[in-house]
Order: sequence, then structure tokens, then C-alpha cells
Amino acid sequence: MNYHIAVIKGDGIGPEIVTEAMKVLEEIGKKYGHTFEFEEVLMGGIAIDQTGCPLPEETIKACKKADSILFGAIGGPKWDKGPKEMRPETGLLALRKEMGFYANIRPAKLYPALADACPLKEEVSGGAFDFVIVRELTGGIYFGEKGRRGDCAYDTEQYSAEEIKRIGRIAFKMAQKRGKKLLSIDKANVMESSRFWREIMHDMKEEYPDVAYADMLVDNAAMQLVRDPKQFDVIVTSNIFGDILSDEAGMITGSIGMLPSSSMGDGKQGLYEPIHGSAPDIAGQGLANPIATILSAAMMLRYSFDLAEEALLIEKAVDQVLKAGYRTKDIYREGSEDILVSTVEMGKKIRECLQ
Ligand code: NAD
Repeated sequence: MNYHIAVIKGDGIGPEIVTEAMKVLEEIGKKYGHTFEFEEVLMGGIAIDQTGCPLPEETIKACKKADSILFGAIGGPKWDKGPKEMRPETGLLALRKEMGFYANIRPAKLYPALADACPLKEEVSGGAFDFVIVRELTGGIYFGEKGRRGDCAYDTEQYSAEEIKRIGRIAFKMAQKRGKKLLSIDKANVMESSRFWREIMHDMKEEYPDVAYADMLVDNAAMQLVRDPKQFDVIVTSNIFGDILSDEAGMITGSIGMLPSSSMGDGKQGLYEPIHGSAPDIAGQGLANPIATILSAAMMLRYSFDLAEEALLIEKAVDQVLKAGYRTKDIYREGSEDILVSTVEMGKKIRECLQ
């Protein structure tokens, strides 16, 4: 098969890490007889510098016609002081909106080889865990009515039935492809919008009898994540709860350079990107860990192209390279037997494992 991918390298370490992910896709292509056609487009600071706009029209067009989008990171001190519409991150928010991406998918995985990096005690983390948070991205309190009245300020949490159903469908289907367990997190003991969310999820669970469904209150979930993270498979939750819990989940994996993510809508297209930023402090020095971006490319294969075997092979290659002790500086342990490698060398090791 031939797949057309819009590639947004972005700023800072973006070009270095995305280049390694593209090379991994090419290697997988050779092995399985797929071709990946890459179309590089601009977004973020580099787009501001070259076109005067953080999200040029040409980028939107290329992304809309592509089968999927691979993205590095954007931003940096150079563009921090501009007006809001000229900030790099404005480009990313506008792209997600243009593409109709309302679901944010964030796996949180602790690799046994990196168990030391987890801030939880090993008897708590179990030395390894692997779950996914599906966060509603375009509704809820961040987008509800807000304002000030006299000496009060307010924000409103509001969800329509359709908004809940569409995020629910993504989460149930993801659970079907993984461990067949779905946990919906809400605050139904006090919030009406959460009671409505729960009602709709309960109606939906009848359509997915193969998925074991449960609810949990968000305060309990925040505790359970640091008490027993192994219990989770797929979590679905609202925008604000997902924002907070996915950062907590990222933290307990111990390494920001390892975590992929994607934003998706109704179709097969997605925006696949590492969760970290453009790390201007280490850009251009070969220090960036490309694994989060390489795993984002693996997510693209699984969720946008239904190439689960190819995705799994990349994930296994990452696992093997870590087991063999290769580490970029962010996950390197001083005084250990780890082998320190650069961004390019890490990419090469992963490709060698694929062969
Ligand atoms: P950051 O994620 O870029 O960096 C935080 C720390 O983690 C830094 O010390 C950095 O060196 C390190 N780090 C991040 N990714 C790494 C990797 N792959 N390998 C090794 N180390 C890595 O967050 P920040 O410093 O708060 O933000 C820097 C810039 O990135 C800002 O302009 C911010 O707006 C932007 N940002 C962009 C995105 C995005 O494009 N999606 C997300 C977050 C932040």
C-alpha cells in the first residue's frame, strides 16, 4: 500500500526527532512492501519566520489531503513575545480545530528496562505498566461559556450527548483493540454534566459487550494512578480531567522523551506527535530522545492505517534497544552500564532491530 503523510517537523528538536521517525517508517515500508510518501509542510515558529503565519493555508490543505500527519514540536523563546495570533502554539490549536480532531490519545507505558526512572516504588509500579488515556479535546469547561460578573468569574462545563458518544466510541473501539477494559472517569457525585456523561457511557456499553466497563470518580482515579497503575487499560474522560490525569500518567512513566500521542476525529486521519515540546535547551546537539516520535509513528500505523503488526514490531524494537542498554542522555543513568547514544544513533539502533 502507498500512504501519503504530511510531515510537520516544527522547531527546536522537532526536525531531529521527526527525521528519525521517518527513517523508521521507511525501514518498515521496505520490510512489509509499503511506501510512505512524505510531504513536508510548515507550522509554528519556522512558519512564522518563513511565511508570517503560524499555520499557513498550504499546510492546512496538505494535512487535509494526507492520509495522516506526523508532527514533531513547535515553539521557542524566539517567538514567545509575539501577539497571541502570532504564537507557534496558536498554529497547533488551529490545526486540530481545522481537522476536526476531538480525541486526544495518550498511552502511558513504563518499560521494564526503564523501571528505575519511575518515581513510584517498584512494589507499587510493578516494574511495568501500559495504559491509554482517551481525553475529550474540544468540549467541556475549556470551551464553555465563561466570563466575569461583578466580583465573580465563571467557566461552564457543558457536553452534548453527541460529543460524549463520539469520544465514547473511540474509547470502546480502542479497548477492543487492547485489553478489552474501559474505565470512564467523571465526577458524577457532584456534577450534572458528569451524571449525563455516565448515563450515556452506560447506554453505550451495551453495544460493546466484549469490553469490561467501569466508572471511577476523578479524585479516586488521581489516587489510583499512583497507588496501582497496572490496573488500567483504557481510560476515557472529559477535557479538563484528561488534561490533569494525562500529565500525572506521563510523570509516573519517568521520561518525557518516551511518550507518544495522537489527536483524532471521526475518520482514520490523525495527528501523531510526542507529548513533549521543542526542547530549545538541547536543540541541534544530537541529545534529543527520538523514541516518543518513533512510537507516535507506530501509533499512526496502528490507528490510521490498521497496520497493527508493523506497529508492534516498532514497539518491540524500542523495547529491545532499551533492554540492550542504549540510552539517550535524558534516560541515561550515570555510573550504570548504560550505553550513551545520540539522537541519530538511537534511531539507527531501532532500525537495526527492525531488520
Ligand atoms: P519541553 O517538553 O520542550 O522540555 C521540557 C524538558 O524536557 C527540557 O529540559 C527538555 O530538554 C526535555 N525534553 C523534552 N523532550 C525531550 C526529548 N525528546 N529528549 C530529551 N529531552 C527532552 O517543554 P518546555 O521547555 O516547557 O517548552 C519548550 C517549548 O516547547 C516552548 O516554546 C513550549 O511552548 C513548546 N511546547 C510545544 C509543544 C508542542 O509542540 N506540542 C508542547 C509543549 C511545549
